[in-house]
This record gives sequence, C-alpha cells and structure tokens, in this order.
Amino acid sequence: NVKIEDLEVGYDIPAAIGMDEADIQTPALVLDLDALERNIKKMGDYAKAHGMRHRVHGKMHKSVDVAQLQVVLGGACGVCCQKVSEAEVFARGGIKDVLVSNQVRDPAKIDRLARLPKLGARTICCVDDLANVADLSAAAVRHGTEIECLVEIDCGAGRCGVTTTPEVVEIAKAIEAADGLKFAGIQAYQGAMQHMDSYDDRKAKIDIAVAQVKDAVDTLKADGIACDIVGGGGTGSYYFESNSGVYNELQCGSYAFMDADYGRILDENGQRIDQGEWENALFILTSVMSHAKADKAIVDAGLKAQSVDSGLPVIFGRTDVEYVKCSDEHGVVADPDGVLKVNDKLKLVPGHCDPTCNVHDWYVGVRNGKVETLWPVSARGKAY
Ligand code: PLP
Ligand code: MN
Repeated sequence: NVKIEDLEVGYDIPAAIGMDEADIQTPALVLDLDALERNIKKMGDYAKAHGMRHRVHGKMHKSVDVAQLQVVLGGACGVCCQKVSEAEVFARGGIKDVLVSNQVRDPAKIDRLARLPKLGARTICCVDDLANVADLSAAAVRHGTEIECLVEIDCGAGRCGVTTTPEVVEIAKAIEAADGLKFAGIQAYQGAMQHMDSYDDRKAKIDIAVAQVKDAVDTLKADGIACDIVGGGGTGSYYFESNSGVYNELQCGSYAFMDADYGRILDENGQRIDQGEWENALFILTSVMSHAKADKAIVDAGLKAQSVDSGLPVIFGRTDVEYVKCSDEHGVVADPDGVLKVNDKLKLVPGHCDPTCNVHDWYVGVRNGKVETLWPVSARGKAY
C-alpha cells in the first residue's frame, strides 16, 4: 500500500499508483475508470452499430492516454482538437489521424500544421475562406506534405463556416485544385443546440443542419466531388447525425466524462442523460479544510480547480450538502445539519468538463478504491 509520505520530498503529483483512493491529495481530478470505460465502450458500440466512424473530441480531455483508450476500447478512428498545439501533442502521442476542427490562419500555425504529417499523422483542418486555401497549399508544398481539408459549414452555431452550398462548392474545388492539399469533405458541427434541455428542441435544430449539409454533399456529388468525411455531432446530438443518412463521422467529447451542465439535458424519454445514458466518470476530489461555522464547510476546490462558466459543481451522491459558492481557492458548501467534518472528502461533478480539465496537470484513475493510473493532462494549456 503506497503512501504519499513514501514518495520523494518535492513530488508534484496528487497521487501514486497503488495508493488508497482515500490518500489522494486534493483538489485533484479523479477518473472512475470503470465508468469511463463503460462510457467509451458504449459510444464506440453505438457508432459501429450505426455505420459511423467516431473521431473523438480531444479538446475535452486533452489527454493522449484517454484518446488511446477511446481508440482501443471505443474503436475511435482518430481525434479532433481545436488548436494546432493540441494536434501536435496528440500526433506526438501516437494518434494517427488528427483533425483540427477549426480554422488555421496565422502563418506560423499554418507552418506548424504543415509539418504535422512528418510525425506520422494524417492531418486535417477546416477551411471557410478561399484565401486560406492558398496559404495552406503553400505551406504543404514547402514541407513536402499533404494537408487534408474539410469545408466548414456553419449549420447553426453562428461561428466559423460558410452558410451556402455555392460557397462550399467553390472552396472545395479550390482545395481540389491546390497542390499539397486534398479535399476530404465537410465539417458541420451544430454547437449551439447540444446543451438545449429538450430532445425535441435539439432535433428541430439538427433537422435544419442536416438539410443544409445534405444539399451541399449532394451538389458536390453531382459535380463529381466525393466527401470522404461528413463530420459533426456531439454528446447532445450524436443519434441525430447517426440516423441522418448524410453524416458519417461523429465528434463526441463530453460523453466520456460527463459534467453537471450536460447531465441535466433530457433524452428521448425525458430522462436526464446522466441518469442512464452516460455515467459521471470525472470528479474533482476536494477536502473540507474548515468548518468554523456550524452550517457551512469550506473545501479546497475553488475557481482554480475548475471552470464555473456553466454553473457550480454538484456534490456527487449527496443531497444533504450543497456546493453554493466559490472564490479562487475556496469552495463554500452549505451543510445545514453539520454532517461534514474537517478532512472529509467530497466528489464534485464539475459544471463543465472541458475547461475544468484544462486547469489540472493530472488525472488520477481509480478502481475498487485504489489508484490504478496517473495520466498527465497532456495538452493542458495548449491553447496556442
Ligand atoms: N465537435 C466540435 C467541433 C466541437 O467544438 C465540440 C465541442 O464543443 C464537439 C464536437 C462535441 O463535444 P461534446 O460531445 O462535448 O458536446
Ligand atoms: Mn464543452
């Protein structure tokens, strides 16, 4: 039984493999490995049964180890990520098929992207502007590599992407004609509806997106241009894309870890998706460090241990205590019955998993009360 005291002085890890779960230093990100594996397997099986590839979204966990698990256990074809710096981490970590599901416009970033295939990874990015085609092409030619390009359609999120089929066709043809580039298909992620509570509201939004994407894909096909990838879909929508007859790749991220904000959206039967569809696998483990007031416990996970952009964390498995407030280094837990004691540990389900993972260095993987894995948040802070 490894104890933290047995480690060298100056260690900078929250736990060691073989340690009891109770000895993990807090605040720390803890993964319930059984739940994580079940989530990954379930989504992988779903994608396979629906003839879809799954290009998991790596920006959620920023972890090479989790991505590898998604490949091995969930049959993922590769990863998406949002930044070139993240793509570099995944490619260096051995992921063979990497999509930057974003625009790459800065000349230095284009140059880095063009060098990624040298790490052995199929390299794909999104394009929504003819001028970008010329820049990407020049960089790929300079390095003797190939960049595959998806034309991005804005199908409702109101961010990057073109909105009409003629624009899609024009850019696709420019990509086809450009040296060093290959037209690979369409990126069409409807990000604005994923977190809508109602299943029917989400469906109404995706129906519009599917019609838009189908028009573009059909028009390209009539012009003799095939789409290898028609990608999109997240945790709140993957069943719609899978049954659309148009999309062939999913890009889900949050399903693997779950969070409090996603957990409350409703499935087809009106049930929260964290009550059956997906399990909470990610927790912020936190300790009570003060109980000087009878009715409140102060815990060590505040703003620096999580992102509260989508709401405060929820205390897992408890209804008697509630996380009600946080500041930089403190969390305030309402404890009306005074049930908590100093050094008690609580498992918080973060409000929003992606930006929470980005503020930690390590994932402590736990099974049967023991620390089994210690994985770095490999692309932590890689926002450039
Ligand atoms: N695809 C893209 C391009 C995204 O930006 C995201 C998340 O924002 C996703 C897919 C899906 O992620 P999630 O399953 O977490 O909703
Ligand atoms: Mn998110």
